[in-house]
Amino acid sequence: MNPNRNEELNAIREGVRALCAEFDAAYWRRIDEEKGFPEAFVRTLTEAGWLAAMIPVEYGGSGLGLSEASVILEEVNHSGGNSGTVHGQMYNMFTLLKHGSEEQKQRYLPKLASGELRLQSMGVTEPTTGTDTTKIKTTAVRQGDKYVINGQKVWISRVQHSDLMILLARTTPLADVTKKSEGMSIFIVDLREAIGSGLTVRPIPNMVNHETNELFFDNLEIPAENLIGEEGKGFRYILDGLNAERTLIAAECIGDGRWFVEKACAYARDRVVFGRPIGQNQGVQFPIAEAHIEIEAADLMRWRACKQYDRGLNAGASANMAKYLAAKASWEAANACLQTHGGFGFASEYDVERKFRETRLYQVAPISTNLILSYVAEHLLELPRSF
Ligand SMILES: Cc1cc2nc3c(=O)[nH]c(=O)nc-3n(C[C@H](O)[C@H](O)[C@H](O)COP(=O)(O)OP(=O)(O)OC[C@H]3O[C@@H](n4cnc5c(N)ncnc54)[C@H](O)[C@@H]3O)c2cc1C
Repeated sequence: MNPNRNEELNAIREGVRALCAEFDAAYWRRIDEEKGFPEAFVRTLTEAGWLAAMIPVEYGGSGLGLSEASVILEEVNHSGGNSGTVHGQMYNMFTLLKHGSEEQKQRYLPKLASGELRLQSMGVTEPTTGTDTTKIKTTAVRQGDKYVINGQKVWISRVQHSDLMILLARTTPLADVTKKSEGMSIFIVDLREAIGSGLTVRPIPNMVNHETNELFFDNLEIPAENLIGEEGKGFRYILDGLNAERTLIAAECIGDGRWFVEKACAYARDRVVFGRPIGQNQGVQFPIAEAHIEIEAADLMRWRACKQYDRGLNAGASANMAKYLAAKASWEAANACLQTHGGFGFASEYDVERKFRETRLYQVAPISTNLILSYVAEHLLELPRSF
């Protein structure tokens, strides 16, 4: 263990905090009210190099580990911002990095590191299959030097603010494979060429100010060279990137949780009712204290996942459990914070209702809480597989 590790992590923390201070609560509130995209924030974070944290140095990134990357996203959320607007750029490149050819890495990674290209989107979920990913119906059929794509995706985020998308499609029909997880492949789709030429994007209005969309593929042609890795192995490639993604989302939830606890404490100290600060009442203190304890516990699991991942160990169990604990803890903290604020918790100007909506998402996406419980039951506790 590097003895200067904590200093390095603290320096990252301070650097990201300083950058985020330029994008205050009023900024995020305005973006939320306008249902806009925080373009200035995304550009600034990209230009400062933070989103290229995990891209290796030889491809223009910083070559940092998951620990460092997780601190970056934690601090964005801790500052009151929303990493959901940027985190795709940090982790969607994992598939490319791990399974792409050297030519693909040279072509894309340096431009992702500099921000010249954005790979903010990953298209997996479909309307009729949901969590049962192996049943996806979107197909990619090889025709000479092209693949022709047909089908539909839903809830695909940041497509309107991305140049590229990672796409999961079936290349061998389900009926023709021995294992249902086989026969799917991963592609890079150049959205600048695809939209309007076989790909239609329809935004989904939603509870969070989160740019997410339905996608319709109608004979979209993409070059065969855009296949990542081997045909038919795409499902495994996607799974490979999930431990890092889940740990990063856990860190975001921890950042949210800390924001809620600090906000609740500040209000509880200031707000005077019945002649004393409301924070003097144990009925107000205890839910905030409980939220703090649960966030700290989730944070321990997040660090376990980070350390395992950075040492090249299997972080599957820790990453899933960290995501579960952190998403739950941030949601409990959100509830405690809103309750502490009474009626004012509902007023946009306090920012609590916005963060409350934003943090709720993480019990559903990118994987729902039930599916983590199912993973733990089956893989850690060796209970019978339920689906
Ligand atoms: C704002 C937002 C952004 C998103 N961004 C993306 C994106 O960029 N790319 C992408 O590919 N997807 C994205 N998603 C999709 C997200 O990953 C899915 O919504 C999520 O995985 C759940 O799938 P589903 O909505 O189809 O729910 P379903 O699979 O229909 O499940 C509905 C509910 O039933 C539960 N359930 C289902 N089966 C079981 C079972 N066997 N046991 C117990 N419980 C079960 C689930 O846990 C869930 O609570 C996004 C979703 C949202 C809301």
